[in-house]
Amino acid sequence: MNSLKHYEVWFITGSQHLYGDQVLRNVAAHAEEIAKSFDSNSLIPVTIKYKAVVKTPEEILTVFRQANNEVNCIGLVLWMHTFSPAKMWINSLKILSKPFVHLHTQYNAEIPWSEIDMDFMNENQSAHGDREFGFMVSRMRKRRKVIVGHWNDQQTILQLANWTRVAAGWHAFQHTRVARIGDNMREVAVTEGDKVEAQIQWGLSVNGYGVGDLVKFVNEVSDQDTAKLVKEYNDTYEVSASVKSSQSLKDAARIELGLRAFMNNGNFQAFTDTFENLHGLKQLPGIASQRLMQNGFGFGAEGDWKTAALLRAVKVMDQGLAGGSSFMEDYTYNFQNGSSTVLGAHMLEICPSIANGKPRCEVHPLSIGGKEDPARLVFDVDSGPAINVSLIDLGNRFRLLVNEVEAVKPEHDLPKLPVARVLWKPYPDLNRAAQAWILAGGAHHTVFSKAITTQFIEDFADMAGIELVIIDKDTTMREFNEKLKWNEVYYHIFQHRA
Ligand code: MN
Repeated sequence: MNSLKHYEVWFITGSQHLYGDQVLRNVAAHAEEIAKSFDSNSLIPVTIKYKAVVKTPEEILTVFRQANNEVNCIGLVLWMHTFSPAKMWINSLKILSKPFVHLHTQYNAEIPWSEIDMDFMNENQSAHGDREFGFMVSRMRKRRKVIVGHWNDQQTILQLANWTRVAAGWHAFQHTRVARIGDNMREVAVTEGDKVEAQIQWGLSVNGYGVGDLVKFVNEVSDQDTAKLVKEYNDTYEVSASVKSSQSLKDAARIELGLRAFMNNGNFQAFTDTFENLHGLKQLPGIASQRLMQNGFGFGAEGDWKTAALLRAVKVMDQGLAGGSSFMEDYTYNFQNGSSTVLGAHMLEICPSIANGKPRCEVHPLSIGGKEDPARLVFDVDSGPAINVSLIDLGNRFRLLVNEVEAVKPEHDLPKLPVARVLWKPYPDLNRAAQAWILAGGAHHTVFSKAITTQFIEDFADMAGIELVIIDKDTTMREFNEKLKWNEVYYHIFQHRA
């Protein structure tokens, strides 16, 4: 995957013509210094671009129109160094189609006690200038993130850095083309949903393809390229002697190359398949789906286009961060007083970005679907904090759910389990987490991430206008149930559109 540096976040500072040229020159110099310091900070993965200070409604409108039209501009940072009367911003805020951060900062960290005079007071007014601006944004019911802190403070920088990651994910989400190869697993409900509404709200598109469309690409793969990829498998993973040169591994490599060609040819960033629609394919794509996820493609099994699109967005957000993110399914429980855990896995398709150590490449029967034995990567996942995220369609709206979990080391080996797996302890505990998850309608499929935190999904939900419910250490069932009821009313009143 490419880095995020080609994405731009524009740094726009508001002021007005009331303080004279010297103050405006200082304001511009300060703003440029701050923008450049963000841009050169390695925590911030995107380009932060300084834009000239805006002093009039016309200047604001001009730069907002440019931001709307610049395809690489994924968002704005807005800051009122001085007072900037907010009626000047109304017409611009009305047309802005990019997300923004309201950065509530101040050029100087501390008050120069012995020097401070009215010139200083005129120049350093963000404490009240940003409140005037904030009023208007709230008055217009515009969604935005407010970050408060000195611009040199690590917490401020980290919040901004993470927000730019989310903005990049949101940008990618809006342009995601999902290929639904085969349709949905028969009779399954939660993986379905309103694809037209999803496109209206988020811009992403989901279109169906016959398995034959993929098979055509698989059949065109050369023996030479197949042999090269088999060698790569053998060099990269632990492969037993019987699997190394097996027909199964060759078939799997051919499927991976065909799938990559299919995805590139159609300019798709995410895909789904299902074990029930595999006519013409020898195996369910296992190692192929796993390795495509690792390269940043979104994936959802059994036709799950919502999880596929969500994983794509998360894969854009988490570039360069430690931990990894994967398609996941709550598979089976270990009930144990006080420390119950969930074993997460799938039939095959878990992303090796979350693997602890070198994955093993194995071939085993799938036991459903009636196809040949598929190759897959088998591995464990290191302990540590993680989140499970689900995106569902409630009929009148979409809902995001987050459950904060702690991945834990299994106390026992799993010598007969032929799939990648992770064991986690959900917060507040398994009983309440699963109770809340089920009451909120959360899916069995999720995006599991050790790379991003709940805050990323909070920012994402806000940008996209999606309802979000969170299950964490502080969740109590009584409050959670009330929240679900209040949300029914809230989303009945407010039609959220991105
Ligand atoms: Mn599944």
